Amino acid sequence: MASHEVLRRVFGYDSFRGDQQEIVEHVIAGGDALVLMPTGGGKSLCYQIPSLVRDGVGVVVSPLIALMQDQVDALRDLGVKAGFLNSTQYPDERSMVEAEFLAGELDLLYLAPERLRVEQTVRLLERGRIALFAIDEAHCVSQWGHDFRPDYLALSHLHERWPDVPRVALTATATKATHAEIAERLNLGGAKHFVASFDRPNIQYRIVPKNEPKKQLLELITTEHKGDAGIVYCLSRNSTEKIAEFLNANGIKALPYHAGLDSRKRAEHQSRFLREDGLVMVATIAFGMGIDKPDVRFVAHLDLPKSVEGYYQETGRAGRDGLPSTAWLAYGLQDVVQQRKMIEDSDGDQAHRRKLNQHLDAMLALCETVECRRVQLLDYFGQSGEPCGNCDTCITPPETWDGTIPAQKVLSTVYRLRSERRQKFGAGQTIDILLGRKTAKVIQFDHDALSVFGIGTELNESGWRGVVRQLLAQGFLSVEGEYSTLVLTPASEEVLYKGRKVLMRREPERKAKAAKAEKA
Ligand code: ADP
Ligand code: ZN
Repeated sequence: MASHEVLRRVFGYDSFRGDQQEIVEHVIAGGDALVLMPTGGGKSLCYQIPSLVRDGVGVVVSPLIALMQDQVDALRDLGVKAGFLNSTQYPDERSMVEAEFLAGELDLLYLAPERLRVEQTVRLLERGRIALFAIDEAHCVSQWGHDFRPDYLALSHLHERWPDVPRVALTATATKATHAEIAERLNLGGAKHFVASFDRPNIQYRIVPKNEPKKQLLELITTEHKGDAGIVYCLSRNSTEKIAEFLNANGIKALPYHAGLDSRKRAEHQSRFLREDGLVMVATIAFGMGIDKPDVRFVAHLDLPKSVEGYYQETGRAGRDGLPSTAWLAYGLQDVVQQRKMIEDSDGDQAHRRKLNQHLDAMLALCETVECRRVQLLDYFGQSGEPCGNCDTCITPPETWDGTIPAQKVLSTVYRLRSERRQKFGAGQTIDILLGRKTAKVIQFDHDALSVFGIGTELNESGWRGVVRQLLAQGFLSVEGEYSTLVLTPASEEVLYKGRKVLMRREPERKAKAAKAEKA
């Protein structure tokens, strides 16, 4: 059958999307391909159709073990002969699939990457006829990325064992660096690259200062997304449960999802989310990879994602049907402090921590930008764009102000706290000193005697928190150690001693109450 006929007869679609046809024909003709396409772009057909058209079995390597059963069931419903091999199966199930493979009764075989490290699996594959290798979620081979899986490194050998079998590597996430790394590590030097636009024009990107996160989230849902399906991402398991409870108490149907729930409950919540209308999933990032629900109308982040890749992938789960959708993120000073601390406390060597910090820096730059969010996002993925008119900075251009003097005040205070007292203080103490507050801790350490005490009355507490957050985001300050001590950086010295200017985003005035909530 020709590829068009397979598209129509087997999958029931009238036409290919984007680069699909070109990719499909290239692979059918035996070429290697590297496919970069955003989530929901239609990557699966790029290897499924060639697997059906070419002789033999299409072998699909995927790390998403939890989804294999569903994927295989969905294909079988379409009449495609599919099977999978992974560690969750009983030995007799596995031997049945192996027998089907050898008998040439399969069109597609899904494999977990660790299966290919088992010599037995490799020998099995050598005894059958292989149409192609598809390497899904190919960014997992990148040590620079956030989903690195060591098992993926072994996939570079496929080419040596099966030099005549075409390989197609697919990913939704790749900066230029990751892109090159995938090609190199998977030995895809001769592969044709297909790079789809990463723009998701129907998604409206918005990033707001976090003051009363629960209330802000509730307002977003009730005013713009009543009755809509959505995903709310939180950093901790505990907060997913609390937020879900809070939403339910306010009349919004919500379920928690995190790796700490037992697998039955996770599966139940996931399938309710897919089946029922207007359910909100409050989840850690454990949720979402491979979830194909077209009508997710909003993705909200209550905590700062660790990287732009993560943010893009998570927000990309909104609006797969192409209809207007919202990506909303609330972030505050506490997020920056917490994440820097998590990086500092993380395992791994200096180079690893530096990498994590660079990821975070790029995310912060996106949060603090005064330009179009989409332009900045696409730029991160090596693509250019025009101001979009559909993000918060395009809709309400943020004003900037010269924050050099407040920056100097914060940095001098941090300097004094470090050099004179040799004690470790965080943002809270710094701000109390600037505001001239005689708190118990200020008096205990004689901080009311510092020359900087009370020099910052031109801003209120929330104003100062914004300044500190922007200084952290722009690299003029850093945090360190168990108590999230504020420390100076080489860039802060330029501000203190060389008159370097600091531009800041102007934020809407906030009520004192909101500032208190952020502190809590
Ligand atoms: P990805 O793997 O890139 O995230 P999928 O392959 O899961 O995307 O496809 C996303 C959705 O788009 C699926 O529901 C799929 O059935 C649908 N789809 C893919 N290609 C086409 C097409 N040519 N015409 C119509 N729908 C398509
Ligand atoms: Zn824009």
